[in-house]
Amino acid sequence: MDLALAVAVLAAAGTVPGEAIDQLVLLGELGLDGAVRPIRGVLPSVLAAARAGHPQVVVPAANADEAALVEGIEVLAVRSLEEVVAHLAGRRVLARHERAAVPAPAPAADLGDVVGQSVGRRAVEIAAAGGHHLFLAGPPGAGKTMLAERLPGLLPPLDEQAALEVTAIHSIAGTLPSDAPLLTRPPFEAPHHSATMAALVGGGSGQIRPGALCRAHRGVLFLDETPEFPRAVLDTLRQPLERGEVTISRASGSATFPCRAQLVLAANPCPCASAAGDAACTCSPLERRRYRSRLSGPLLDRIDLRVELPPVTRAAWLDGLGEPESTAVVAGRVRRARAVAAQRLAGTGLTLNSQVPGRLLRGRFAPPRASLALAERALERGALSVRGFDRVQRVAWTLADLAGRTVPGADEIAEALGMRLQRVAA
Ligand SMILES: [Zn+2]
Repeated sequence: MDLALAVAVLAAAGTVPGEAIDQLVLLGELGLDGAVRPIRGVLPSVLAAARAGHPQVVVPAANADEAALVEGIEVLAVRSLEEVVAHLAGRRVLARHERAAVPAPAPAADLGDVVGQSVGRRAVEIAAAGGHHLFLAGPPGAGKTMLAERLPGLLPPLDEQAALEVTAIHSIAGTLPSDAPLLTRPPFEAPHHSATMAALVGGGSGQIRPGALCRAHRGVLFLDETPEFPRAVLDTLRQPLERGEVTISRASGSATFPCRAQLVLAANPCPCASAAGDAACTCSPLERRRYRSRLSGPLLDRIDLRVELPPVTRAAWLDGLGEPESTAVVAGRVRRARAVAAQRLAGTGLTLNSQVPGRLLRGRFAPPRASLALAERALERGALSVRGFDRVQRVAWTLADLAGRTVPGADEIAEALGMRLQRVAA
């Protein structure tokens, strides 16, 4: 507001003509020497100005590329108050700022780097294809973080609308990289388990800032060592994730941010976190039970995919010596599977299997009865809840889409069940 206030005062004093600022939007912080400094939140502010019908906006030069992402409004870049005054008085008219081409993003971490973890590689591929939240359990060194970091690379790049949304959030949060005015890749956020509620969801004193959950909008929110997060914090995430937005209220006002993020949770099998797996575990049965009980609850109940990763040495041995597929290859399969699902779901307002409600899974999108036999038996003997039964079907649809089948067969149901009936957090 500094620049707008200063110019309004100058107009009232007659230093600049009042009519010159009638329709003008001015954004920027002022230094005591009259320098116009960059600010946060330029993109959403300029979007709002354009929507309100303002023809021109003056922004700090450092924010000009970001402001120029908005169509239909002329951006004037300034470095000092003096430049603004000279422009408004008609002494030295500023030229419209032309945005430099958006640089291609640096290559993301590649799935080809993950050696000997076929179970985990398969899990992130399915998660990407169906938009399923994912839970990875496994000993330290099994590659949980590596796999989670590679999930955004398997998701389709952001379209123009999504890129603007994500960029606007990061602009307000102050996390927009200076060399990338437009974020075109799904973001990845990995808050530490010591993060406060405000850091995770949003808040702060004064201006409300979006938290990690909102910064992960249209991308991935990774919670490593999930059982170490306070239970109350985990439960707070549930509702925003379901609604796709979060509202933060403060005495100064409230703000609503979108937060349609894909969740990846990771945990060790037990508190002692022995890299050798169960064989070397020193935990008592009670300790193990208590640790795992932290992984149940309303948030965990929303996770379609629950996968237990083997220790990597054993996994590598199981894998043989093949060269792991690259992100490009797997992302191609994900893209095709997503297209098939979107076509099937056309007219429902949904695009991903993870979004299909139980009602439709039991109706229009019910897999053939014959393929469900295994899941029905699990349901009957109580190994699977009704909700769990729905989740198995959602995952089975994604497996069918990946395999190029028109409906899930017994194989897809069996694989989906295998990723559901895990010892951890079953
Ligand atoms: Zn242990």
